Amino acid sequence: MNFDFGSKVILVTGGSRGIGRELCRMFAEAGGRVVFNYRDNTEAADAVLSELQGSDHMAVQADLADPDAVERLVGEVVDQTGSIDVLVNNAGIYELHEFAGVSYPDWRSAWRHTIDVNLLAPANLAYCAGRHMMQKGGGRIVNIGSRGAFRGEPKAPAYAAAKAGLHAMSQSLAQTLAPYRIFVGAVAPGFVRTDMAETILSGPEGDGIRAQSPLNRVAEPEEVARAALFLASEGCEFLTGSIIDVNGASYLRS
Ligand code: NAP
Repeated sequence: MNFDFGSKVILVTGGSRGIGRELCRMFAEAGGRVVFNYRDNTEAADAVLSELQGSDHMAVQADLADPDAVERLVGEVVDQTGSIDVLVNNAGIYELHEFAGVSYPDWRSAWRHTIDVNLLAPANLAYCAGRHMMQKGGGRIVNIGSRGAFRGEPKAPAYAAAKAGLHAMSQSLAQTLAPYRIFVGAVAPGFVRTDMAETILSGPEGDGIRAQSPLNRVAEPEEVARAALFLASEGCEFLTGSIIDVNGASYLRS
């Protein structure tokens, strides 16, 4: 599949590792100017920046749990590049908080932090970048959701709830923003081979997780990134409101 993002500015959150890193690589390879954000891993961010094809890409540190940092990030991208054509809300966290064993303070902390990063940050980014897109006459927003929203996350219920909220937000914004030619979609991956899933995939549950798919494996980051580029590409306007499953038939819904 050949994508062309020539002359487009793409803001990818959480671009220093995993799926975000592949998003940056593939958007840059397709001619886009990539600005990516990371939380604190400057070394990983520098490595990504150095491997991107083309020039003028940028990495910006920001903790997206802070709504003011989100506003500053979007302002900086617009100031430096003049535009945001595509926003990919990819940054996310996965914190365990198993019901039976967790204290009430830890339960509350996990919910607060997970909702802040996985749901409120994408909502705030969609607002700040979306307002800019409205003024310039259009844009694309792609949210990286999760299979967990449909299948449940017994050890991390806040994660599943945040991702379900993210899917629902994508659908609502697709309706609200279509008149402004801002098209919104989501990608819902099952397990992906990244740092986030490393501990569980290399542990005793790993084989069982791989066996959830008839392909007997989990997704590669680029398989998720490809679906996001597809949603963000020219010609996919009428897919607005879609949630694309990338789970190797490990969970089927209709
Ligand atoms: P990952 O390898 O753990 O990387 C997470 C990225 O998000 C890093 O770039 C990290 O920055 C950034 N980040 C985390 N918290 C942040 C914050 N508060 N502010 C700014 N940036 C922050 O994750 P991944 O597996 O690629 O996941 C990417 C997305 O896919 C997430 O939304 C995740 O929920 C979703 N997803 C993943 C899987 C899976 O199995 N991996 C499955 C379904 C959905 P630093 O490098 O600075 O820490």
